Amino acid sequence: MRLNVTERRYLAVLLAVLSVVVLVLVGRRLNATKVGGQGPAEPFRIAGNFYYVGASDAAAFLIIGPEGHVVLDAGYPTTARLVMESIEKLGFDIKDVKVLLNSEPHADHGGGLAAIQQASGAQLWASDASADSLASGGDDPDVVLPLRALVWLGVVGYYPPPRVDHRFKDGDTIRVGPIALTAHITAGHTRGCTSWSFPVRDGDRVLNVVSACDLGVLATSQYPEQAADRERSIRVLRGLPADIWVTCHARWWGRYRKFVASTTAKNPVEPFIDPEGYRAYLDAAEAELREGRTH
Ligand SMILES: [Zn+2]
Repeated sequence: MRLNVTERRYLAVLLAVLSVVVLVLVGRRLNATKVGGQGPAEPFRIAGNFYYVGASDAAAFLIIGPEGHVVLDAGYPTTARLVMESIEKLGFDIKDVKVLLNSEPHADHGGGLAAIQQASGAQLWASDASADSLASGGDDPDVVLPLRALVWLGVVGYYPPPRVDHRFKDGDTIRVGPIALTAHITAGHTRGCTSWSFPVRDGDRVLNVVSACDLGVLATSQYPEQAADRERSIRVLRGLPADIWVTCHARWWGRYRKFVASTTAKNPVEPFIDPEGYRAYLDAAEAELREGRTH
């Protein structure tokens, strides 16, 4: 069979459209099963009512209270299952989780929130900028266009997205019974990046916890006020008292090293008390900013 020019053109267009459709479908499938190198991690108590329930690196935290629990971050859509198994393993009921919080809405921290919200019925609180991104499954106007288009096509991002129930402002405190977490909008990595500070009780002392947001910049996600935002965020975080500190990537705060040390320590809380590590994290973020590095 010989095709004339018009038929050949028609066939070429058809093949091009088909390959795009196949690429999108394969991409969506890969996205739905993406674990980002995450493996399961043993859940453990950090101090008082504060627990680690995340994966090997994509962190998730549980703060328990008599009137309901709080979960901060949930990893990828596919790691939400690990988070829920960890909560159960610690002896807590997912249905008692009443509030969901997020550090930043990229898929490795916001992707699992929808599944946890569905299982628990918890209310999700977010900063204005994070709320828009979370509710759209990870879309972010600051991300470079080709990558953003992949979010629209479902090749990256998370579907269905979580439902954002409440928005907070910088400095607001979210409460569930006696639990009180203060939101610090520390923009830079994303515009709505949120750090959290809250007290935990260890015996007769009260320890200050800071969950610091990512302070680095991705080459694919930049905006004009970013350097000034990072400058301010580092200053804000330097002003927070931190006995215990964590971040959304567990390797940055030494999850495994501290966990292992805690299993043999006289007081298992002691290895997590690390104000020097917190200062070093902020110093490293400041050096990255001064040297104009991305990560
Ligand atoms: Zn991120």
